[in-house]
Amino acid sequence: MKVLASYVSGAWVEGKGKPQTLVNPANEEPLAHASTEGIDFGAALAFARKKGGAALRAMTYGERGELLRAMSRVIHGNRDPLLDLAMANGGNTRSDAKFDVDGASGTLAFYAELAKELGGRKVLLDGDAVQLARGPRFVGQHILSPRRGVAVHVNAFNFPAWGLGEKAACALLAGMPIVVKPATSTAIVAHRIVELIVEAKILPEGALSLVAGPPGDLLDHLTGEDVLSFTGGGSTAAALRAGAPIVHDSVRVNVEADSLNSAVLGPDADASSDTYNAFLRDVARDMTQKTGQKCTAIRRIFAPRALAEQVAEDLRSRLQDVVVGDPTADKVTMGPVATASQLRDVRAGIERLASEAKRLLGDGPLSPVGAPAGKGYFVPPTLFFIDRPTEAQHVHAHEVFGPVATVMPYDSPSEAVALVRRGGGGLVTSVYADDRAAVAELALGIASAHGRVVVTSAKIADQTPGPGTVLPHSIHGGPGKAGGGEELGGVRGLGFYSQRTAIQGDRAILEAVLAS
Ligand code: NAP
Repeated sequence: MKVLASYVSGAWVEGKGKPQTLVNPANEEPLAHASTEGIDFGAALAFARKKGGAALRAMTYGERGELLRAMSRVIHGNRDPLLDLAMANGGNTRSDAKFDVDGASGTLAFYAELAKELGGRKVLLDGDAVQLARGPRFVGQHILSPRRGVAVHVNAFNFPAWGLGEKAACALLAGMPIVVKPATSTAIVAHRIVELIVEAKILPEGALSLVAGPPGDLLDHLTGEDVLSFTGGGSTAAALRAGAPIVHDSVRVNVEADSLNSAVLGPDADASSDTYNAFLRDVARDMTQKTGQKCTAIRRIFAPRALAEQVAEDLRSRLQDVVVGDPTADKVTMGPVATASQLRDVRAGIERLASEAKRLLGDGPLSPVGAPAGKGYFVPPTLFFIDRPTEAQHVHAHEVFGPVATVMPYDSPSEAVALVRRGGGGLVTSVYADDRAAVAELALGIASAHGRVVVTSAKIADQTPGPGTVLPHSIHGGPGKAGGGEELGGVRGLGFYSQRTAIQGDRAILEAVLAS
């Protein structure tokens, strides 16, 4: 049995005590053990701050970008074995696994390119110098410089590769060392990526550490210049936010949590249009890609009342073609959910929805292809319909983290906006419309409740990857239930790992000091 060691203080260390067993969710066969008991996390964070932080800060943005490029290449160069690991440990189809692994290498490569523009600087200027007194010499210039702590990255089970890559790209480029803590249940892919990066000797000592297993007292050792970037469930986030260093030492925290993302078909919709087809394509893909275990997946589908039943029928017919089973078996297009506890949560969520919605798909017996009888954490694509969504509760309140969504009619664009906003703050909502007035009312009406709004119209219907894909150029995160966080967004993503300082003084001196 493979044992996942953690990489801390420059060495691979195995935890003691009873380990957690990682399994293949398609057949429940054990794959690896992980334990972190007995690991000195205080020393690990201190090592990262001292060694990794100093080494990264000695480099320019351009030089750090080259580290990201090398990381991207090593991931891409080992793509096939990484995809195999993701299929075994994550229940991913090959296409799901590519989404995760290519997402990691692609995001790192994006930031490597962006670093070229930042070039030989060690400090970033934030805007222009502003005159502060009557004379022209006394000015204020905002700058961004790397925080002198460590960035702890706690990730969810669903994106072990992309979650690592997208957070690592911004932190390392900004000049902060990272401690990566993937979710234990699917940690094999992240563990292998760290092994590859360490074997290739890409990063300076201390710049990258890995906690492979439960977090123990990791977060108790955070200090005021450290940052915590968390992706996971809202209730876990709430507990972490109450941690003593976070409350008393103002450790900077970013949270990416739950989200009841919507897709809204515009009031001008025509069922024979490219826009309508893009809408069906995106909803069906989002419900089933990664078995619906994407933070950006569409959970609520709003259509004009006159078209809602047709939307439900068209979706039902697309989803009926989904083949559920072991992702390594032929023709399977959707694998299991990742863990036994996810299966329990998804089933409970489905029952809650069934108490207020009509089930259109997902009720019958399930015979997963290629899975041993009675084994595996399988859920069928499940589609609900709610005729009076303003009166419903659960659908607007609870994220079901699986291949589950609900079609709901709306009677006016303003009602659609109000219904979407009942999700309490989300990562992304997509609007499918060509009429400009409709786009203005819907997109601008929901914008402040989201980190991202995707407007799909006929002329770009074949160009957009859909709302489920997080592109590094745009921000990822959202207000309220979604955690209130913000990641990526090009150079904006470096802000979390940097301290913004207003330097006030003589323009000539500041210009000389800040020239590089
Ligand atoms: P989770 O149970 O909240 O766990 C997330 C991470 O937190 C795991 O690495 C977990 O480690 C760690 N953790 C748990 N307790 C901790 C503690 N006391 N101290 C430090 N770390 C701790 O979430 P999940 O089941 O992995 O993921 C599902 C949820 O994530 C869904 O609700 C989904 O919406 C959300 N999600 C959001 C985004 C986004 O970008 N907004 C992306 C993906 C997923 P262990 O595994 O070792 O317990």
